[in-house]
Amino acid sequence: MKKEQIIEWLKEANAAKLGLLWKLADDVRKKNVGDDVHLRGLVEISNYCIRRCGYCGLNAENTSIDRYRMTAEEIISCADEAVNYGYGALVIQSGEDYGIKAQWMADVIRSIKSRTALAVTLSLGERTDEELALWKKSGADRYLLRFETSNQQLYEKIHPSLPGKKSDRFAMLLRLRQIGYEIGSGVMIGIPGQSYEDLADDIECFGRLSLDMIGCGPYISHPKTQLGRENSEVEDMQGQQVPNTELMTYKVIALARIMCPLANIPSTTALATLNTENGRELGLLRGANIVMPNVTPIKYRSMYEIYPAKACINETATQCHNCMKGRILSIGRTIGQGRGDSPSYKQRKSV
Ligand code: SAH
Repeated sequence: MKKEQIIEWLKEANAAKLGLLWKLADDVRKKNVGDDVHLRGLVEISNYCIRRCGYCGLNAENTSIDRYRMTAEEIISCADEAVNYGYGALVIQSGEDYGIKAQWMADVIRSIKSRTALAVTLSLGERTDEELALWKKSGADRYLLRFETSNQQLYEKIHPSLPGKKSDRFAMLLRLRQIGYEIGSGVMIGIPGQSYEDLADDIECFGRLSLDMIGCGPYISHPKTQLGRENSEVEDMQGQQVPNTELMTYKVIALARIMCPLANIPSTTALATLNTENGRELGLLRGANIVMPNVTPIKYRSMYEIYPAKACINETATQCHNCMKGRILSIGRTIGQGRGDSPSYKQRKSV
């Protein structure tokens, strides 16, 4: 699909025409990854963060949240819980926390891999090549690192580099692939200052990187962030500002599916936050094939506030599990068994 066509879809308002996009995305999904919806247990292991990202509530300048870091035992018990629910993978996410020492993390990964058959996905921010290689060697399978936006000027504004170390997530994704990880990335939709052209570029990037996993959700403003404070004074975008809506999120999920037919694409919590009633289902009906039920202990949940009013924040892991299962079955889909490796990764490995 050409960039002009992507932009047209992003701007499309006609419901009947959009029906064609949903249908196309759903057909591509069915043909390439089937009816299985894979469940990944998500554990948010630390909300400490060294970064000053303009969009995220965990940014280092936010002194109004209590910070926590889970113990190795707590993380391992979440892994056991994921196994009990029948999940094939565990996603370990955190702020960029250098209190998470490389060897400690490696030991946790080893321990999970030795007692379970879970695939382990890491989403721990921008760590060194040595650390990433050590974690891979210890058994980690996948790494998630959203590039957030491909507009470099906007990226630098909302995701300031650390002193003396330019943040280049595209380069890091390529290194992750070289190290042997299955790689995932994605963007936020409707970041203040993000144009339709930018978002179309983002979607083209998914294809160029041949991502194995693509996670996209609406940008949700958080009052304790730079962007949240600037809300009212966004520069005039002359009608080109992408809205951070539910509809735009479905469009991006659908276009991502068409761009990367074999990728694993989640129906995200940020989307469910905009439509608690059936946002998850609609995401799954418009290209997605993954959901990520939360297995983080309840006492930490509200502290991992990347954006406010997160869906499912007070649901226990059991409630979250039952709810997700019910939603998947209600739309005639099946629960995926096993690790749910991305077919694109398997294909690349076998060449
Ligand atoms: N520290 C890790 C994990 C960050 S949280 C990292 O930086 O990669 C995972 C994702 O949540 C981020 O990549 C971002 O895309 C999303 N996110 C953060 N703040 C958000 C907000 N205010 N609205 C919507 N999504 C947000």
